[in-house]
Amino acid sequence: KLHNTVLELKGNIRVFCRVRPLLGEEIKGNGDSDVIHHISFVDEKTLELCKGGDPNSSTMSGLKGRGGGAIEFSYDRVFNPTSTQAEVFEEISQLAQSALDGYNVCVFAYGQTGSGKTFTMEGMHGDESLEGMIPRTVKHIFKTLKDLEDKGWTYKVEASFLEIYNETIRDLLATSKEAKNLTYDVKLVDSKKNDTYVTNLKVVEVENEGRVHHLLTLAQQQRAVAATNMNERSSRSHSVFRLKLTGHNSKTMESCEGNLNLVDLAGSERLKESGSEGARLTETQNINRSLSNLGNVIMALGQKQSHIPYRNSKLTHLLQNSLGGNSKTLMFVNVSPLEMCFGETLNSLRFATKVN
Ligand code: ADP
Ligand code: MG
Repeated sequence: KLHNTVLELKGNIRVFCRVRPLLGEEIKGNGDSDVIHHISFVDEKTLELCKGGDPNSSTMSGLKGRGGGAIEFSYDRVFNPTSTQAEVFEEISQLAQSALDGYNVCVFAYGQTGSGKTFTMEGMHGDESLEGMIPRTVKHIFKTLKDLEDKGWTYKVEASFLEIYNETIRDLLATSKEAKNLTYDVKLVDSKKNDTYVTNLKVVEVENEGRVHHLLTLAQQQRAVAATNMNERSSRSHSVFRLKLTGHNSKTMESCEGNLNLVDLAGSERLKESGSEGARLTETQNINRSLSNLGNVIMALGQKQSHIPYRNSKLTHLLQNSLGGNSKTLMFVNVSPLEMCFGETLNSLRFATKVN
């Protein structure tokens, strides 16, 4: 491939698991210790979930594992609570390179609310060592562009940032005044290439890495305007940050176009449909459906099925040219270290095993 990318991928889907550390009060609540009792880190690719002190031991029934009380999960990588943002990015920097080479790439963060999805994707603004995958990817791309210039390549880098809430798209880079009276919907432009676009979506050309912080801040403000309870909203919506990279080589006259999608998914906690009614029930069903549909699409691609159910949710419809075909997918499964989250952790780890 162009620019000497060497990427060994098992299929085109990889799964990384990341367990966040216990934080502040959580440490005290854990018997004044920051030891996580129910998760053991076996090696770089394996963790073990143990019954430990789980009072609800019935959750483990039906699990096959060593001694009946532990179950092993293996992924392409397991990051433990001491893993830094830089270490995590090291593993995904190749994907940024692939997008420059003309591949379509998707990186997802899956996990229950509070498990570290946004920390992984966006990180903490203002502290460079805590920056997440989005700012690191952008930095990496601009650094690489300098080297590529010497070889005759020039690139246009364009960003868009949207949110899918209750199967409705909202532009996170447009102010509510700008978005007024506009409708956003996914349209298929080329069914052969699976190319889609979103009507009226703002696409911003990014000239340097400094601009991305501006975009993240803007998106943050738009989310705040939209929600009375921002955490609740972010846990119930997917956000998709997309970089489109269009390259042209003036020496060889080659050109390429790649897309890099970084997706912070809605919280994966099983939402109970009983008890909610009306609009709330529809919303709950939409979230459950779109997450399970994402799993189904990735699985169908892995099994090379002839029909891929892209159209069953806005998210997969939007991303259909970046899922399957000549594309690369990375799924982070983010995990909380809290023992009370045992059931959700088990669900997340199983979901990740299913798509891998
Ligand atoms: P989610 O987006 O999945 O709901 P967050 O990313 O908001 O979860 O993480 C929940 C809390 O944990 C936040 O306060 C976040 O800063 C913190 N956190 C998550 N992952 C880490 C980590 N690896 N190291 C330190 N703090 C983390
Ligand atoms: Mg979040």
